[in-house]
Amino acid sequence: MKVVKNPKELMKILRKEKRSIGFVPTMGALHEGHLSLIRQSCKENEITVVSIFVNPTQFLPGEDFSRYPRKYEADKKICELAGVDYLFMPSVEDIYQKDEVLVKAPKIKGYILEGYNRPGHFDGVLQIVNKLLNIVKPTRAYFGKKDAQQLYLIEKMVENFYMDVEIVPCDIVRESDGLAMSSRNVYLSEEERKRALLLSKSLKRAGKLIMQGEKDVEKIREEMFKVLEKVEIEYIEVVNKNLDKIKSVEKGNSIILVAAKVGNTRFIDNLWI
Ligand code: AMP
Repeated sequence: MKVVKNPKELMKILRKEKRSIGFVPTMGALHEGHLSLIRQSCKENEITVVSIFVNPTQFLPGEDFSRYPRKYEADKKICELAGVDYLFMPSVEDIYQKDEVLVKAPKIKGYILEGYNRPGHFDGVLQIVNKLLNIVKPTRAYFGKKDAQQLYLIEKMVENFYMDVEIVPCDIVRESDGLAMSSRNVYLSEEERKRALLLSKSLKRAGKLIMQGEKDVEKIREEMFKVLEKVEIEYIEVVNKNLDKIKSVEKGNSIILVAAKVGNTRFIDNLWI
């Protein structure tokens, strides 16, 4: 595995590549969720590029940019063992200039749900993903369904800017008790972890109700609010794959989304129906 820091150096190497390129962008502190994306990329492409970059522009003032876990040495080993060909680890200065051209999230879909609670977050996400896709020019790029709105907006950007890449959505990987894997789980004390588990429990409850034939979104949300009594809920919403709110669950075209604060940290989780 080759570790590359400079964007132009990586471009030079990859432009000579004739093989198919799979790309997995991450912010590091790698866990099984990231690994599942990396494994899928290795299976479906001749070479795999992983990036690790804690992107400052997607953090709002007061968010956890400076304390976000950074585990560069462990991450390198994980990537090497997983069969990654190129690990791209630029610094902020390698990636950003002063006063640069900006990508903007769409005015509606970029400012609901996560975007409502973190206004401007998706501008930063799209700015970095746009740069990374242009640097790597992958055949396929892998994104987790855990960040459902991010996935939607990246698919939109690719469509709107006619970018030549296949976006591959990947299933959510969970701990054995159901907690969705996240680099932010390390912030949790034992007591907080129990409360964080309520997010996936509320989704499980919703899934069970739907299996029993319940379709009414308000009834499903009501039950989820009950499960989530002990956390600071930001939103519980049921949307279709276009992120429009729906009144009745439609199998194959519904996503149940939840966001809540546990201690000082926000957590998100969702269930695709
Ligand atoms: P991050 O490092 O948090 O920016 O995540 C990098 C990529 O991994 C994103 O596409 C995430 O959606 C994805 N990801 C993060 N956690 C999980 C998980 N538990 N299961 C599946 N994919 C995940």
